[in-house]
Amino acid sequence: MPSTQESPPHPRRPRQSWSETPGLSPRPDGWRMRLHRSLVAAMKRMPRPVIRLAADAYIAGETRAEALALTDRLWKEHGLSSTCDVLGEAIDSEEQAQEYYEEFEAMIEELTERRHYANASIKLSGLGQLLDEERCFERTRALLEIARDRGQFLRIDMEDHTTTDSTLGIYRRLREVGLDNCGVVLQSRLFRTEKDIEDLAPWKPNVRLCIGIYREPPSVALQDKTEMKHHLLTLLEKLWTHGQHVGLATHEEWVIHEAVELAARLHKPPEEMEVQMLLGVPRSKIQRELLDMGVRVRLYVPYGHQWHAYSMRRLENNPDMLRMVAANVLTKPFRRD
Ligand SMILES: Cc1cc2nc3c(=O)[nH]c(=O)nc-3n(C[C@H](O)[C@H](O)[C@H](O)COP(=O)(O)OP(=O)(O)OC[C@H]3O[C@@H](n4cnc5c(N)ncnc54)[C@H](O)[C@@H]3O)c2cc1C
Repeated sequence: MPSTQESPPHPRRPRQSWSETPGLSPRPDGWRMRLHRSLVAAMKRMPRPVIRLAADAYIAGETRAEALALTDRLWKEHGLSSTCDVLGEAIDSEEQAQEYYEEFEAMIEELTERRHYANASIKLSGLGQLLDEERCFERTRALLEIARDRGQFLRIDMEDHTTTDSTLGIYRRLREVGLDNCGVVLQSRLFRTEKDIEDLAPWKPNVRLCIGIYREPPSVALQDKTEMKHHLLTLLEKLWTHGQHVGLATHEEWVIHEAVELAARLHKPPEEMEVQMLLGVPRSKIQRELLDMGVRVRLYVPYGHQWHAYSMRRLENNPDMLRMVAANVLTKPFRRD
């Protein structure tokens, strides 16, 4: 097995996107934002089957069975691990929170025999975090107990910055009651993350580290994507130096190559490294390279009936997403992935 030092050469400077071009505002304000809103409004009026064409690449299907069948194929045919997510954030009643809970309960049951290559990612907002934090804690605790009894790990996704305190607070309480089979997500775009890493260090959390998908205000977050990615690497080094397990969630190839080099410098064996990506983002070549090195590669596999609302929210919240999805769909016939 090749060592982590044998990674292919790569450009150190990232490709610039419009939002990172010198002289342009890194925030898509003004006419760009108006154009984005008009495009999203137009998409909301499009027939669902048209949107489904684009969403299909990113979503396993509407049912648990479809998601599980996909995790099996990803593992058996490609050696890719999965983390399954039920599309159900932004709920507005306890009944919906309960439905979301029950779907996860059933999912965890079915993941038991797949636990070496698949786990679940939960969103606390789906479990009622914004309705009643205590009930959300109890539901999360119950899911973690079920998962623990079946030898499984659960990841708690991170949502926008208004929920970070609550999410990390719930995570700490879960660890205090002895539930060690859960992990958190930290976002490099937030200024607070460095301190969160220090505060959480005694717990040695299993962290998914990403730039963060939510557009956040300049008072709390970096606005330039290149800076977010450099910060991602700084935080990764900090976490690894603390001896924590990190699932590095990014599709940016120069960041992945830098991470591989960092692992080598820190004498971290490839088997202890994990890179996570979203289902549907065309990255098969680098996934293969990582797998060949012995690095675990895990895909985020969302499923559920709420695929339309989910897709629209993602497009709405993240102006870059529209460009990336369009590029992905339009170049698909010409790619081999
Ligand atoms: C497994 C996983 C779990 C995540 N969990 C969370 C979470 O809990 N909380 C949170 O806030 N964020 C989460 N994210 C999202 C993450 O924070 C980023 O928003 C997302 O990964 C894009 O960042 P990037 O580092 O890939 O950089 P980007 O600059 O966004 O992407 C780099 C390149 O990858 C390609 N690309 C990226 N996304 C797409 C796409 N959708 N379609 C086509 N091409 C694309 C493009 O070529 C792009 O130029 C998660 C991401 C992953 C992979």
